[in-house]
Amino acid sequence: MGSKYHWQSQNVKQSGVDDMVLLSKITEDAIVDNLKKRFMDDYIFTYIGSVLISVNPFKQMPYFTDREIELYQGAAQYENPPHIYALSDNMYRNMMIEVENQCVIISGESGAGKTVAAKYIMGYISKVSGGSSKVQHVKDIILQSNPLLEAFGNAKTVRNNNSSRFGKYFEIQFSRGGEPDGGKISNFLLEKSRVVSQNENERNFHIYYQLIEGASPQQKESLGIMTPDYYNYLNQSGTYKVDGTNDCKDFQETMEAMQVIGISPGCQIQVLQIIAGILHLGNIIFTEQGNYAQVDSTDLLAFPAYLLGIDANRLQEKLTSRKMDSKWGGKSESINVTLNEEQASHTRDALAKALYARLFDYLVEKNGFEQFCINFVNEKLQQIFIELTLKAEQEEYVQEGIKWTPIEYFNNKVVCDLIETKLNPPGIMSVLDDVCATMHAKGEGADDTLLQKLSAAVGTHDHFNNWNSGFVIHHYAGKVSYDIIGFCERNRDVLFNDLIELMQSSEQDFIRSLFPENLNTEKKGRPSTASSKIKKQANDLVNTLMKCTPHYIRCIKPNETKRAKDWEESRVKHQVEYLGLRENIRVRRAGFAYRRVFNKFLQRYAILTAETWPCWRGQEKDGVLHLLRSVNMDSDQYQMGRAKIFVKNPESLFLLEEMRERK
Ligand code: ATP
Ligand code: MG
Repeated sequence: MGSKYHWQSQNVKQSGVDDMVLLSKITEDAIVDNLKKRFMDDYIFTYIGSVLISVNPFKQMPYFTDREIELYQGAAQYENPPHIYALSDNMYRNMMIEVENQCVIISGESGAGKTVAAKYIMGYISKVSGGSSKVQHVKDIILQSNPLLEAFGNAKTVRNNNSSRFGKYFEIQFSRGGEPDGGKISNFLLEKSRVVSQNENERNFHIYYQLIEGASPQQKESLGIMTPDYYNYLNQSGTYKVDGTNDCKDFQETMEAMQVIGISPGCQIQVLQIIAGILHLGNIIFTEQGNYAQVDSTDLLAFPAYLLGIDANRLQEKLTSRKMDSKWGGKSESINVTLNEEQASHTRDALAKALYARLFDYLVEKNGFEQFCINFVNEKLQQIFIELTLKAEQEEYVQEGIKWTPIEYFNNKVVCDLIETKLNPPGIMSVLDDVCATMHAKGEGADDTLLQKLSAAVGTHDHFNNWNSGFVIHHYAGKVSYDIIGFCERNRDVLFNDLIELMQSSEQDFIRSLFPENLNTEKKGRPSTASSKIKKQANDLVNTLMKCTPHYIRCIKPNETKRAKDWEESRVKHQVEYLGLRENIRVRRAGFAYRRVFNKFLQRYAILTAETWPCWRGQEKDGVLHLLRSVNMDSDQYQMGRAKIFVKNPESLFLLEEMRERK
């Protein structure tokens, strides 16, 4: 291969080891040291075999240009320094050559660089794949969905100025010729509560600030845009600006993205009306008079009602009262009960959250829930990693009859079970669903009941602890305390019929389309809860991913200061531990870098000997042995399994590849 592959030796010195399989000592400290050395020398990527470790540099690195895209295209992993482009290229070529679906699982904590990594992959794929105009259109959608999703799904948090507040699963379909010809995004678990309240130093979703900063004077007028401190849904945290973010410019990008994605101009206006409508809705406040809520200033009703296309009186009525079914003397009838101030505020917030969540679902089409659920999904993703890299790998050696000393590792299946098991004992989600099924309409006391039932069911579980106002789960990544308050309510996740009816009365067809439920049909059986939905989504996701050839990127966050060159040793060590990197290296090292079923191996290297070319007559296994002996491969470099040949070091394989190229 050409000399273009030697940039590493010319430009920069080698730093630590590229692939931690080559570390002389496999301890957590040695791993952290190696990562640190490389990080300080501006190498953010390191391999463990085919797993890519990426340490967030918190500054732009120079090696993401077209030049690198060219460099990594078609090159073997060992030819260039570790890079996300190498992984991307490997995925792309695997798909083309093996005709197998590929997936990449990107994990790491908030601010570790997952979203940035995903963007680099998409950018790479888009650059190297073909380009008719239809394909270009698909690529535009793939690339443009990022700014759109980020505007509506990301927010400034304490840990990350651009934190994704939803789980994302992105699928790109390719034609036989390797051109992207379709795609699909699913989202899980949008953090809806952020629409109505934010902690100190955090913000609501970016779109709100973008709209306020970026709207034209006409838009400002028609949407009633004021400064952010005017809105209750934005002024609680006291944070409006984010370093390094230009909300005004981002607004133009968001609008452009909507255009590219194919949202019509009319619809775009309605999207903005909903966003502004939610802000104005938040400014409706209530006073309490003799236990009844009253809208404090009725002037403030007209504008949100106008933006949402609904009647102001009706809005007032629905915010301060609720229809309830009551049984009276054997007859069932509906009565209107008035709400107190707290209930009215809750209803207003429920409407704001539902509007936002449905709008978000429309923009990405699907649905979700919050932190407990997010952690559950992460737990499931870690399970896949364990199943495929630690468990399956070791099982394969046993199955193939390869000599093998098992390596111990922590299998987080116990944590997944604690959360999702149905019976004996029931897991947390089952207990939650049971409590919700028998819950009083107003939900009073349900959370306390839940806590008691959880103690009874899983109180003695090794990964569960009670805590005065909730419970603690010992997740694979560490202990997390959950506050029990609101668990039942959020799990039930029902929007009162009154509010659905209200929105269905909107003059705007787009808004009506966000509330398609038919309230006249009788509900059958238990309504599905948020946790049962997320359980299904997570398991569907796992099934989909299990059918693909997996690739992994483990992102590491080197500090909490978001500064370049800042290395917090203990934080990195903690991540190295729970990501299971040491076990990963051990399994990898004790194991074999390469394996192929006999006939595939024979086909690939047939050209190397006269007896195997064009095909070997005899047992496949003997053919493979003949080949290996003819090329003088060291006998400790390989083992013959029952159906597969296992090669220990990648270097031995590279040798074969080179011989093949020279033929
Ligand atoms: P969350 O779980 O909160 O969504 P995340 O893992 O998606 O977090 P990112 O948003 O990708 O984190 O990264 C956080 C910030 O770190 C980015 O906005 C960027 O400033 C910086 N960053 C991450 N990766 C890189 C990189 N490869 N090069 C330069 N900066 C990076
Ligand atoms: Mg993110």
